[in-house]
Amino acid sequence: MQSSNTYHQVIIIGSGFGGQCAAINLKKMGIEDFLILERRDFVGGTWCQNTYPGAAVDVQSPLYSIASEPYDWSQMFAEQDELEEYTHHVIKKHQLESKTQLNADVKKVQWDENQKRWMIETERQGTFESQFLINASGPLSTPVIPSFKGKDTFKGKSFHTNNWDHSYDYSGKRVAIIGSGASAAQVIPTIAPEVKQLDIFQRTPHWVMPRPDYVFKPWQRSLLKVKPLYKALRTMIYWSLETRVIGFKYSGYMLEKMAQKKAMQHIENQIQDPEIRRKVTPDYTIGCKRIILSDTLYPAYCRDNVELHSKEDGIQEITETGIITTEGKEVPLDLIIYSTGYDATDGVISYPVIGKTGSTIGDFWHDYPRAYLGTTIPNFPNLFIVTGPNTGIGHTSAIFIIESQMEYITRAIKSVIDTGKQSIEVKAEAENLYTHNIHNEMNKTVWKTGGCNSWYQSKSGHVIAMFPGFSFTFRRWAENFKQQDHQFS
Ligand SMILES: Cc1cc2nc3c(=O)[nH]c(=O)nc-3n(C[C@H](O)[C@H](O)[C@H](O)COP(=O)(O)OP(=O)(O)OC[C@H]3O[C@@H](n4cnc5c(N)ncnc54)[C@H](O)[C@@H]3O)c2cc1C
Repeated sequence: MQSSNTYHQVIIIGSGFGGQCAAINLKKMGIEDFLILERRDFVGGTWCQNTYPGAAVDVQSPLYSIASEPYDWSQMFAEQDELEEYTHHVIKKHQLESKTQLNADVKKVQWDENQKRWMIETERQGTFESQFLINASGPLSTPVIPSFKGKDTFKGKSFHTNNWDHSYDYSGKRVAIIGSGASAAQVIPTIAPEVKQLDIFQRTPHWVMPRPDYVFKPWQRSLLKVKPLYKALRTMIYWSLETRVIGFKYSGYMLEKMAQKKAMQHIENQIQDPEIRRKVTPDYTIGCKRIILSDTLYPAYCRDNVELHSKEDGIQEITETGIITTEGKEVPLDLIIYSTGYDATDGVISYPVIGKTGSTIGDFWHDYPRAYLGTTIPNFPNLFIVTGPNTGIGHTSAIFIIESQMEYITRAIKSVIDTGKQSIEVKAEAENLYTHNIHNEMNKTVWKTGGCNSWYQSKSGHVIAMFPGFSFTFRRWAENFKQQDHQFS
């Protein structure tokens, strides 16, 4: 494969489900001249990268899968190895490996208005050019470790859950995990029985609900191979999850009286110690942060070799040998696991993107990230952002939204081809109206009013990760391509 100034009609950045869906849809349109640029030395995104112990999806797999690619899942909530297998199945079926340039870490992209092309600079593979650019670099792809005082002085082992070092044997070791979100909630119960001591540093507790997992019997798995049955199960799961939006947006009463009550019962059923109960009980409305599904997390908190440090006993300093807490306790450690999340909001695209007028997306997003249908931005022609601002969804599969964005992206590309033009750009007033409406609607949601600080919010306080409504509304908007909201040249 050539490595410098190669031209393709479409370049896709990222080979996760976003990149895969883009590629599959381009093929469906008859566009074969595309290339996927992937910064890593393997294809696949989230489920090939996140191999930490206990990693699993928290949306039922028949729904958390590409609609056109059913799979005979072994359980309702697939674990990482099966999700990785599924990813490879999709990549192989659509022959995407040969369409992917690995080790191509995109460092800068710039629109050339004369040539009506994107110039895409990578770190090790030279520069590529394309008419259309689809950024699918992932909403949760760039891990973040806060700069704790003394972090670099620690002489033991440390890594982020996103970069789990499997060559390190944690059994019998003194381990700390910093963070208590979705990944930590999966790591903790998996490693707790094997380590000598596990100290968990939690900034804010999450609401936890029971996890209705189910292992499919062999005959049920063979039924999953029957497309109409798979579709029926998928539809059933979809609608059962979609009703949650009523609580998130329209009925605080329903959230508090139904979901929160159930979550409180979960605490009471699984934890006897009043001090641990106090530490795990959030002080904000359920749904404001991502709800964790787990039947094993609370029992892990109650183990003799596990200590849960809440905010008032947080991290004062990391030393050569461990952590000193704000209460002055010394915690000697062999391993520190950072489960401290991702650059998910303000840094949603990690490299500079320079548009038609010479200014960057960073400039446009100075106040907060925003985009029409979470996908297109004025003055950035032929650029499409998969899982862009306000496309996150707390209650259902992220892949459903990715596939909805594809409805818009393919229609937009097709409209350029059909009109014989070279580029398409969303009009500033259309983007402005869309964004204004999104944030108006957001004011009604628990993400805005639930009384929590979460990664859903940008520094400005705007909730920019979530879509404030039903996922079928987003799908409908994406399918209804409005030519009048765009300009062509
Ligand atoms: C641990 C974990 C658990 C999750 N669980 C769920 C869940 O249960 N349900 C759910 O709906 N969602 C979940 N998600 C969200 C998840 O991000 C989406 O479901 C989905 O996988 C996003 O796909 P993507 O292709 O957009 O991103 P990714 O899968 O992250 O793929 C992005 C790709 O882009 C590449 N890339 C990034 N920057 C560059 C660059 N500069 N140059 C070249 N390549 C680049 C990355 O290396 C990566 O391969 C989870 C995320 C994580 C991290």
